[in-house]
This record gives sequence, C-alpha cells and structure tokens, in this order.
Amino acid sequence: MPTPARQSQITVGDIRITYLPDGYTLLNPTAFLPASTPEAWQLHKQWLNDAGQLVASIGGLLIQTGDRTVLVDTGFGDKRVEFPGFGPFQGGELLNSFRSAGVDPADVNAVIYTHLHLDHVGWTSRVADGARALTFPNARYLMRGPEWEHWHGTDNPAGPGIEDVQQPLESRIELIEDGQVIAPGVNVLATPGHTPGHSSVVISSGGQRAIILGDVLHCPVQLDEPQWTCVFDVDPELGKRTRERLLQELEDPATVGASGHLADFTFGRVMRGQGKRQWVVGTAVG
Ligand SMILES: [Zn+2]
Repeated sequence: MPTPARQSQITVGDIRITYLPDGYTLLNPTAFLPASTPEAWQLHKQWLNDAGQLVASIGGLLIQTGDRTVLVDTGFGDKRVEFPGFGPFQGGELLNSFRSAGVDPADVNAVIYTHLHLDHVGWTSRVADGARALTFPNARYLMRGPEWEHWHGTDNPAGPGIEDVQQPLESRIELIEDGQVIAPGVNVLATPGHTPGHSSVVISSGGQRAIILGDVLHCPVQLDEPQWTCVFDVDPELGKRTRERLLQELEDPATVGASGHLADFTFGRVMRGQGKRQWVVGTAVG
C-alpha cells in the first residue's frame, strides 16, 4: 500500500539531491483526476490506499552543488487543512527534515518555486518570536515571470496567500528565464500547463542528469492514463503535452526523475517494457 515518501538522497555526478518531507495529502482520486472513474481505478489499485485514497507526498528537494544549496519548493507549512471533496493536506515536517539532513535553513542560497500552488509555498515565511519572517533568510527567491504574474495580487485559496507568501516575497522575488543557470549544473526548464509559469529543474553532472518534475507528474498512473489530468491544471492540454515531452526526456537511461508528490519513493526512471512506459522506482542505470 502506498505511503508518503520518506527522506532520501541521490547523487548526480558531484551533486547531491535530497528529498525533504513536509507531509502528505490523501486525495479523492476521481475528484483530483476528473477524467478517471471508480471502474478505471480498479486496474490501478496499487496507487491507492486501503480507503481508496490517492496518497501524495508533500515536500521540498534540496540540491547541494559545490558550496551552493538550492531548495526547490517549500512544502505545505505547519498546518493541516481539510479540503471538502478532496481530502486532508498535512504539513509541518520540513524543518525537522532539514535537521535530519544536517542543513541549516540559513545556509540555503536560493529557493526556486516550480509553481505557487499552496502545497509548494507553505514554508516561505513563518511566525517566530511574534513576527513573520522568511524561513530561509539568506536565500534568493526565484521563479519564472509568468508564475508571479498569474498569482500576484490574487487571493485564490489554491494559490499563494497574500500575508504569508506574496507580501514577504514582494521585495525579494527575482524572476528567472527558461534555461537560466541557478547554480553550477542546475538549470531551469519551462514546463507550463499545470500553471502558466510552471518550471522544472534540471541537474546535470558527470554525464548524468536528474529532472525535478514539479507537478508535471503527480502519480505514475499518468503514464498509463495520459488523459488523467489534474483538476488544478490551468491549461490541461498544454499540461499533457508538457508531460509527454518530459516523459520522453526521462526515457534517456542517464536521466532520473523526481517529484515531491510521488508516494513511497521520490526518485525513479521511465523505461519501455511490454509496449508501454513504466515507472521504475530507484536510480540504478538500467
Ligand atoms: Zn502540488
């Protein structure tokens, strides 16, 4: 039965990538992937828990390259929220995960957001000693322009809160371009569809590569069922094309994929077998 992913680490050449859990969500699968049906899920029961819920992890990915530390996404934050019809979202573990990784949040040089849905921005700021402050005080805060423009000034319950995300970032945000280098071996890749400015992060070193997918892939069931787009996709058709493009990239045997929402284990590969694509958990070059 799927469970939220635990902390784990891989290396890509000289670069270390660590999944830092913050929490999880337990989703109503047909509400989250509205093209799916209870009958169709009978063929894909391995992705559901005993209660028939889709288990999704929530967390950030830490990239350590040379003397640079980059955090991709900041989890859900220290809270639990029930979303009627979808299920609970639970966060709160991210700073504990930093401790177990032996990294001080003050050492993060850059935070890059794949996008600004609420389960990716939760630890942007926090209240400490009665005042709200950025959780990663020494970081540059990076995202692509279309993402900031899409959400800035709006108060959408699925997006970044005004007081806890938008205002703290207002004077700090730096807009970056597709392909831009964030740190040695770390590049931004525009992957729009789920949101207009959605970005993935490509890590390359020593002839190996990892792609942090963000919400291009929520669950490997989407390899078998490409029509099952997420209810929160702003442009589902573009999202499908983007997912197809990245799955092709992941068929390269030297490329590992990572998504903070995968249950059980954050890292995996895409292989062709039995006439179709399969998600293979782990990082061994096959
Ligand atoms: Zn998400």
